[in-house]
Amino acid sequence: MPAGPYRGRFAPTPSGPLHFGSLVAALGSYLEARGHGGEWLLRIEDVDPPRVVAGAADVILRTLEAFGFEWDGPVLYQSRRQAAYRDALERLRREDLIYACTCSRKRIAASARRGVDGPVYPGHCRGRPLEREAVAVRLRVPDRRIVFDDAGQGRVACNVAAECGDFVVRRADGVFTYQLAVVVDDAAQGITHVVRGADLLASTPRQIVLQQALDLPTPHYLHLPVVLDAHGDKLSKQTLAQPIDRRAPLPALIAAWDFLGQPPPGRLDSVQEFWSMALAGWSASRIPRVRGYRP
Ligand code: GLU
Ligand code: ZN
Repeated sequence: MPAGPYRGRFAPTPSGPLHFGSLVAALGSYLEARGHGGEWLLRIEDVDPPRVVAGAADVILRTLEAFGFEWDGPVLYQSRRQAAYRDALERLRREDLIYACTCSRKRIAASARRGVDGPVYPGHCRGRPLEREAVAVRLRVPDRRIVFDDAGQGRVACNVAAECGDFVVRRADGVFTYQLAVVVDDAAQGITHVVRGADLLASTPRQIVLQQALDLPTPHYLHLPVVLDAHGDKLSKQTLAQPIDRRAPLPALIAAWDFLGQPPPGRLDSVQEFWSMALAGWSASRIPRVRGYRP
């Protein structure tokens, strides 16, 4: 576990404008970082070209600015990080931890159990040498439990071999996957604390496996609720996916604050007043847990 200064981050995917779910992740990660006297970095996760919407990254940055978020250092763009991902892949190859997979979706679906995040890859191609051609590349995962203490969700334990199987780190179309990119970049940016939505809780054990394989430190994790609001009601996809209005920061910030279980702020007349209130009054211990999540 990292010791010393706190460095957090917000890492949106520019697949559209900032929506309420990502505002919650931005706010939670920001207040935790500032509450610890730490830094807060930004990373645009545009590693997957088909998911990237032209102009969305700029809209996200301008929205964060309009909302009064202040980030440290330059913004890191995953689309400019191919060399670092290739180096990581090469290292995994040297350690004999990756292999080429030529299975079709159909073949996997026919033989696989369902795990935490879709079918558990049954390992058909294990032992197949890595070719240069356009094939998917999978990481050979260890058959043991990964355990970590999430600051929001408590202890999480997962055997990645049983729950996911060997997972893809580079797709057949040459695109490095989120799991690989996020691990390489969290380490490159020196992130000590990851605060993000609990929709990614199931990914964390895979990321820890990759950190261990690449000999990188494991940051602390805090996964924020995404399923329920502060009142215990289920949020619909629609509510979470609603784009937020860049011209009306205050109501959106207050709604995100409320969603994170923080007490009613009283009357606020400006974004500046919101930030003074929030930086003084924030407490991560009030964040509601995700009910019903089973790792
Ligand atoms: N880019 C991811 C998203 O927007 C978040 C990744 C992360 O925080 O690890 O959902
Ligand atoms: Zn295969």
